[in-house]
Amino acid sequence: MIDLEPIHVALRDRSYDIEVGVDTLGRIGECLAPLLRSKKVAIITDPVVDRLYGARVRDSLTGAGFSLSQVVVPQGEEHKSLRELGRVHEELAGARLERSSTLVALGGGVIGDLTGFAGATFLRGIDVVQVPTTLLAQVDSSIGGKTGVNLRAGKNLVGAFHQPRFVLADVETLRSLSERELRAGIAEVVKYGVILSAELFSLLEDDADRILALDREILAEVVHRCATAKARVVMEDEREGGLRAILNFGHTLGHAVEAMTGYRRFLHGEAVAIGMAFAARLSAARYGFPVADADRVEALLKRFGLPITIPGELNPGDLARAVETDKKRQEDRVKFVCVEEIGKTRFELLSTQEIEESLRAI
Ligand code: NAD
Repeated sequence: MIDLEPIHVALRDRSYDIEVGVDTLGRIGECLAPLLRSKKVAIITDPVVDRLYGARVRDSLTGAGFSLSQVVVPQGEEHKSLRELGRVHEELAGARLERSSTLVALGGGVIGDLTGFAGATFLRGIDVVQVPTTLLAQVDSSIGGKTGVNLRAGKNLVGAFHQPRFVLADVETLRSLSERELRAGIAEVVKYGVILSAELFSLLEDDADRILALDREILAEVVHRCATAKARVVMEDEREGGLRAILNFGHTLGHAVEAMTGYRRFLHGEAVAIGMAFAARLSAARYGFPVADADRVEALLKRFGLPITIPGELNPGDLARAVETDKKRQEDRVKFVCVEEIGKTRFELLSTQEIEESLRAI
């Protein structure tokens, strides 16, 4: 029996709990009954997740007396769009949702971000509950209230901060993920170890086999630790004024690698793994991160089957310029998250030229 404490995200009138557990999806109705302002709920999900888990969530909610409507958004990043957002709004209006109604986001980060933004904007803001079903969504995107959609000009360019009312992460849902999706999610898990917790990092090294074998107990423990870490960062810096930017570790180069390979070759987590390996090497070369620890970071990523090398055909100059166009810029320099020791980070401002030189050297 796995019994983990709920994680409380204390943000004054926007506070909420995150519940991490095993086989808890069928308890969603019971969890929400005392929390929500009305019995009217709309589930937003995608066809894959709906087929796997929709019935269980609907049964639980209707069993607890909720009246339901549902909007199914096609799966895939390309549907995290203004077009789908508009369709969701129209369907919510058609189902006569009110200010006191709640949206339940059942799915991965795409569904979570789109639903969160729909909730932030419909009737000037209604409550959202996150029920994340991918590893990335359970440890990252469902927590912290960053919501939004993509534009043709770039990812996540339109959005809002809108904290959820509650998050329910059932690690049992991770068992139906493809192995590649699971491994990509593990990249974000490794990230928390590197930037915030040497203890988590060692646990990942010791228990990699159990994690890859989807052992429920270790999955629940790992998701709980990561969600706790994310909650801590969000509580300190809700709107990314400072500390929250440490979560971009590995993402600065990762985004550039994703963009330069047309968002087709790598899953987000795979590109982040390449970015983390580079950031670890850069930190060792310039900022005193022990080389042996950079080796450990690479070894752990490899252990989880993640890529660590920049594809040879990507030219360092082009890549450095792609990094520069990323959102995380300050004047003409890029804010890079570097590591001093495992569990401790520092920000460094690097010019395009310095990034290019490091890419060539590393
Ligand atoms: P995703 O939502 O596209 O899900 C990946 C695929 O897995 C989809 O095809 C989905 O149908 C399927 N799926 C979901 N749950 C499943 C399950 N339990 N079993 C089998 N298949 C399942 O991808 P993702 O990696 O979860 O999320 C990526 C998105 O998250 C990106 O849009 C990214 O920008 C966003 N994100 C947001 C934040 C934030 O703070 N808001 C943070 C990180 C990432």
